[in-house]
Amino acid sequence: MHFPEAKKSLGQNFLHDMNVKRRICAAINPQEGEHIVEIGPGVGALTELLLEAGAQVTVLEKDSRFIPLLEELNNKGYKGSIKVIEGDALKDDFAHFIDEPFKLVGNLPYNIGTEIVIKALETPEKFKSITILLQKEVIERICAKPKTKDWGRLAVLCSFLSETKYLFDVPPGCFHPAPKVMSALGQLIPLEAPRYDVPLKRLSHITKQAFGQRRKMLRASLKGLISIEQMEAVGIDPQARPETLSLEDFCTLSRIES
Ligand code: SAM
Repeated sequence: MHFPEAKKSLGQNFLHDMNVKRRICAAINPQEGEHIVEIGPGVGALTELLLEAGAQVTVLEKDSRFIPLLEELNNKGYKGSIKVIEGDALKDDFAHFIDEPFKLVGNLPYNIGTEIVIKALETPEKFKSITILLQKEVIERICAKPKTKDWGRLAVLCSFLSETKYLFDVPPGCFHPAPKVMSALGQLIPLEAPRYDVPLKRLSHITKQAFGQRRKMLRASLKGLISIEQMEAVGIDPQARPETLSLEDFCTLSRIES
């Protein structure tokens, strides 16, 4: 297949391996008539498979070069099933492109991947699932469990709001141009309600402070926010480091008023 010149600034690595494309599509599991929003469709590597499965696909692409190519899919027998939007996923309110809950998918630009996931999780009720291809290291951080090296703010927030699944690795050779690092597919299924009754903003702030200084004990990293006495009163060791705390522990800390 002939690919356009890749723009590094837009994180362009085009997926060309048909076997991997089919596996990603199977993970998304598109249903006839189901709404799917794809971010960064590029030349439509995944888009066509989603349309073939009968889904109603809305694509959001920043690179204007691809817009006519994507519009062309209307003439390939998918008329009425694809809506093409030229825009920026970091600025546009993609959560409200469709009224009913829908599936969000994307082989996302590495530099904006986490921001898009966090943005999507701010309105979890809008998404049936979020299936994303990103660098392996980021998918590992999204799906990490407590007491591992990857357990950090991203995993705490993602597991607070969703069920996360690490699906499979995608080697550099499956893309053009080949990225320097391994990629992986991850999936988040937003929960109907957060796992604990705590404001997301507060949890986000506490984890930012705690993991921002990962090597420090909580008594130091949370100084000014939560006192040693307050931590002890809820049974959390002020000498602990953040990677040893569970999601429940962070939610307990987040309930404490500053
Ligand atoms: N989905 C295609 C594929 O699998 O071959 C392309 C994936 S490529 C890694 C990322 C795509 O996201 C590119 O098409 C790029 O132009 C687009 N993109 C980059 N930044 C974007 C943004 N802020 N909003 C929407 N699309 C963006």
